[in-house]
Amino acid sequence: APSGATSAAIEDAKLIGITVDKSLDFPGWYQQILTKGEMLDYYDVSGCYILRPASYAIWEAIQKWFDAKIKSIGVQNAYFPMFVSSKVLEKEKDHVEGFAPEVAWVTKAGSSDLEEPVAIRPTSETVMYPYYAKWIRSYRDLPLKLNQWNSVVRWEFKHPQPFLRTREFLWQEGHTAHLTAQDAEQEVLQILDFYAGVYEELLAVPVVKGKKTEKEKFAGGAFTTTCEGYIPQTGRGIQGATSHHLGQNFSKMFNVCVENPLGPEHPKVNVFQNSWGLSTRVIGVMTMIHSDNKGLVIPPRVSQQQVVVLPVGITKKTTEEQRAHIHSSAKEVEARLKKAGVRAFGDYNDNYTPGWKFAQYELKGIPLRVESGPKDIESNQVTVVRRNDSRKVVVKLDELETRIPELLEELQADLYNKAKELFDSHRVIVDEWNDFVPKLNKKNVILSPWCGVMECEEDIKDASAKKDDGEEFEQDEKAPSMGAKSLCIPFEQPELKPGQKCVKCSRPAIQYCMFGRSY
Ligand code: AMP
Repeated sequence: APSGATSAAIEDAKLIGITVDKSLDFPGWYQQILTKGEMLDYYDVSGCYILRPASYAIWEAIQKWFDAKIKSIGVQNAYFPMFVSSKVLEKEKDHVEGFAPEVAWVTKAGSSDLEEPVAIRPTSETVMYPYYAKWIRSYRDLPLKLNQWNSVVRWEFKHPQPFLRTREFLWQEGHTAHLTAQDAEQEVLQILDFYAGVYEELLAVPVVKGKKTEKEKFAGGAFTTTCEGYIPQTGRGIQGATSHHLGQNFSKMFNVCVENPLGPEHPKVNVFQNSWGLSTRVIGVMTMIHSDNKGLVIPPRVSQQQVVVLPVGITKKTTEEQRAHIHSSAKEVEARLKKAGVRAFGDYNDNYTPGWKFAQYELKGIPLRVESGPKDIESNQVTVVRRNDSRKVVVKLDELETRIPELLEELQADLYNKAKELFDSHRVIVDEWNDFVPKLNKKNVILSPWCGVMECEEDIKDASAKKDDGEEFEQDEKAPSMGAKSLCIPFEQPELKPGQKCVKCSRPAIQYCMFGRSY
């Protein structure tokens, strides 16, 4: 029998709903959004989290898209072990120095100590490259392009954050070897475009592409390219994904070389290598940007379910016959949507009121709610409500198969445009140091003319760490007031004025660099 809204059900809805305001307590809000939205759960090992089906489905959508892209350029998937011996791990000096503090070691089996402790991969350059040396014999074996979908462990001591910084995370890591630097460098940029595509086309998150400074580049690499995102509530930048050109550093250490194509009388050539990785961090960035005080907002292209169909307008006065008719009309809508390739499902449980269900599916971030009630049935239509802005749209039944996919795409575009507007209006050009910290404190990331000198970058970080106007800004629990790091040197550069000086020191500027407080 249909049940009305009981006060207990309303209390229930409040309990399961989000009780923290995104603009007032962002970390508390983020935690509630993820747990109540059933994306993730906390785990009893600090810094580790459980990815529940709603978030894993997003990861699968990303995998599907990205996997097809890399296969289109000749990359193959493989799998290497998660353990690495200390001898091999320590082969590339800069690399091991970069990762040493975060490497987790297995020292025991049962109660007995291992003779040689083994490390758990923080990334797999050193795991894979001894075998590249073995497999690559001739320049005809090049390029070698392998990728693995796996997890890595970095025992970070910075404040862990679900998805953004976790001690074990899922990612893909691609490792390729090329005969020429040019070939390798071209691929590095191609992969970076794919990464930007994951953010912009799938997750509706705008990014800025660029190069990392020497200070921020990958340990042991030649240069690092990155796409950088922006979290409006905190004004902080976040490294989205990185594509590294390793040059010949690793191939020299691991002796990955081939006969010179010019002939045996010429010296052997060390191969040129790249490595590139994108992690489940992307899901955190997406969630922080789009979700709101009602719950998750998930872009339609990646959400596990795109449409929930709900029968509405059933009251105590509704006869059994009318009720059955409303249900069968909604079920028919669901079936037609599925047939049209829309990821749709229906909820026909009369023990919950429509209001309770609305709140429930808003919390879960289902992009569109399709309501079918007596008035809709009478007018041959459904009423559609968009999750992102609660806007109602009436769709005629004979346009169902075309309009719903269109509405999903419109919603996807609206999410992107809104996020882009916020990023664009909070990426400000600052030429004078006096303006730097005040603009930073206004939740901006900063584009400044810069000299490119590492010490100057450190000065900028120190000098921007302390607040000078007494305003509050959001911090990690234990972190001191955070200074601005260089995020990247954007590929798209504002024009430097002739004689332009560095924003911080008296040296001439050589380019604009993007700085910001960051995750
Ligand atoms: P890296 O090998 O350090 O360049 O990292 C590759 C990508 O993985 C980065 O661009 C980050 O987006 C991501 N990443 C790095 N550390 C973590 C972490 N602790 N948790 C989640 N994602 C991470």
